[in-house]
Amino acid sequence: MINQLFTPMINKLFLTFLLVTFSSGSLANTETVSGIGKYDDNNVFSKILRGKLPAKIVFEDEFVLAFEDIHPIKPVHVLIIPKGKYRSLVDFSSKASEQEIIALVRAMGKVAKLMGLTEKGFSLMTNSGHNGGQMVAHLHFHLLGGEPVNWEEALREKNTTDN
Ligand code: 5GP
Repeated sequence: MINQLFTPMINKLFLTFLLVTFSSGSLANTETVSGIGKYDDNNVFSKILRGKLPAKIVFEDEFVLAFEDIHPIKPVHVLIIPKGKYRSLVDFSSKASEQEIIALVRAMGKVAKLMGLTEKGFSLMTNSGHNGGQMVAHLHFHLLGGEPVNWEEALREKNTTDN
């Protein structure tokens, strides 16, 4: 009797949990994506570009958008993206026009300056594909600063363990 009463209730709760977890994207957020293949408009940066998702924009011009990362790992953590539909650097470097490439590189310098990073320095990096840990399938560069980024230390540690 108790089983008959509680089993459907527990099943319903479990289904609701699955629905909430997947629709909020909390599990999908840890998944990496491929850096190659067809561009998919469903990625979050495409939605930001189309004004469907909010973002704290720090720079914009005809070809580039820069906005704050939603989960900053340094005091300054800005994402710099081309407005064109490119999944990764592989895609962008082979398909983008010279105008787009120049605009992106120029924007990187401008945003670093705008965020007050040029004097003390910064790190600029992109993740490509599964091994790179890319999680959003629209090319983006992480501009990190405001305190030492310590890639150098991390690489030195890795080289010591490899030898
Ligand atoms: P990846 O691992 O692909 O190089 O980095 C993706 C970055 O995008 C992560 O640092 C993550 O915090 C950020 N991110 C994911 N979703 C959003 C979002 O909706 N808005 C903003 N501003 N950043 C996001």
